Amino acid sequence: MSAQNGISSPPISIDTLTEALENSLSVIRTGKDAQEAWKELANDVPGWIENHITAEHSIPSASTIDDCMLKTWYTATGKEPDSDVPIAWKRRSIVGILSELVWLAIFRLAKFELEDLKDRYAFMDGVMYGRPDAIVTFEGSERFIVELKERTGFEYKKYVQKYSGVISISPDIYSQMQVYMEAVDVEWSLLLICPADYSMLQNTMRNNKKWGRAYELPAFHLEWVRKDPQHIEHLKGRALKIKEAVETNEPPEREYNGIPVSFDGKKNWPCGYCIFNESCTREYGYGDR
Ligand code: SF4
Repeated sequence: MSAQNGISSPPISIDTLTEALENSLSVIRTGKDAQEAWKELANDVPGWIENHITAEHSIPSASTIDDCMLKTWYTATGKEPDSDVPIAWKRRSIVGILSELVWLAIFRLAKFELEDLKDRYAFMDGVMYGRPDAIVTFEGSERFIVELKERTGFEYKKYVQKYSGVISISPDIYSQMQVYMEAVDVEWSLLLICPADYSMLQNTMRNNKKWGRAYELPAFHLEWVRKDPQHIEHLKGRALKIKEAVETNEPPEREYNGIPVSFDGKKNWPCGYCIFNESCTREYGYGDR
């Protein structure tokens, strides 16, 4: 571990990692080592897909631990949804699974050492399970987790504008990374996030005086996240609450107001996108939590 006076610092600088990944990206189609990375990628595909299809996801899972507890309880107790998620989201989730593999090939080409992953890693003695995208080392560093994400341009722009970090821009990702760090027992985790539609976002930004016509949008954003024991305790509390609610079949409190659309006609997040919205408002009405 890179530690001085007991204070742990990130295993590698972001600049070094950015340079390594950019170099790898620039030769991924044609470089002489690229063929090897592609071959390994091809070998990985069947097992990776198999794992995503057959993996036993706990409820809550690492990626849903911050979701409304009532919504999670509905899912865990097998309630029939009132609506379906948009089909575009379903397509994106499949593309996202495959794009993780492409990133792993890029990491290999950049000389990251990738650890063989177990099928799943237990959090809180198995109250929850999860599996990070990768556990790696780089140039003799300590092991760390890599979390690969594609998000909308709206969200990615906040990273580029450096409003703040993942903890406030994408708290769901922050929580997911904390679950994995605890389950895998590492101190650091690297987030790699890129926009789902690069050109559209870049063009939008180029039309804004602040960025200018020649603006080049970064292809990805990297950020270190350190294990946060206080937040992990908070997540453990949530996981136990949901587990208990499922076991006793007693619904937990809802965490939002159930209102799907605001006065100006805009869909509210998250209730406007919740597949149990009708049941929730039938049971609890609008407005109160
Ligand atoms: S509609 Fe909103 S409050 Fe109700 S279960 Fe869904 S997310 Fe929770």
